[in-house]
Amino acid sequence: MMEKSLIEQKYSDIESNLKHIREEIAEAAVKSGRKPEDIDFMAVTKTVDEMYINHALDSGITLIGENKVQELLRKKPNLKLDGVRKNLIGHLQTNKVSQIVGEVDMIESVDSLKVAKEIGKQSVKKGLVTDVLLEVNIGREESKTGFMPEAVDESLCEIAQIEGIRICGLMTIPPICEKTTELCKFFENIYNMYVDIDSKKIDNVYMKTLSMGMSSDYVPAILSGSNHVRIGSKIFGPRIY
Ligand SMILES: *Cc1c(COP(=O)(O)O)cnc(C)c1O
Repeated sequence: MMEKSLIEQKYSDIESNLKHIREEIAEAAVKSGRKPEDIDFMAVTKTVDEMYINHALDSGITLIGENKVQELLRKKPNLKLDGVRKNLIGHLQTNKVSQIVGEVDMIESVDSLKVAKEIGKQSVKKGLVTDVLLEVNIGREESKTGFMPEAVDESLCEIAQIEGIRICGLMTIPPICEKTTELCKFFENIYNMYVDIDSKKIDNVYMKTLSMGMSSDYVPAILSGSNHVRIGSKIFGPRIY
């Protein structure tokens, strides 16, 4: 008998990984008092070849995330995107905004007032409103982009007034933590911010999406209140840059 080809092997790995992740998401959702379908499951497709992304799409993925504008635009025509949402999740440079507005369903990585203003400007130019999340640097790390926790309230109010933008929630990448309890503190801090902002009923601010949780921590993230997880390597295997 012929050995299964590497591609076929990878296809079947993707399927079983998706199945396993869906089960864990469902379990964590129920444990935290929600339904499995309340959790948005994003496949993070950076560095992944289009044929494998399409296999994930054929296997039921309806939300994908890319980090880089150029990579996203290059891959887009080759993907089976009917009924699939695509979000930008990486740092966005102001000079790339005009290329990405209108090409994605959401920009999750708004990390400055400057980039928000440019997104608004380009959106108005194209006659549309762009959904965004504010990225919060919940661990106050030098190495990360995002608003410092104490600056979120003020920035949010400023950004909410920009025409062409709709704030739909918050996104974060927590610091690397040795203990899950330590990690959950960060998740719980941002969850509390999210609930608090929602209760203020600010015009043009809709706290619908709390985007946190990646391959290594999506279960604790969901248990801490995430409703949108971004998972890459656990679906597609280690990234080769
Ligand atoms: C790469 C990336 C992910 C996915 O990371 P994995 O650990 O492979 O799941 C999630 N969010 C952002 C912003 C990323 O850049």
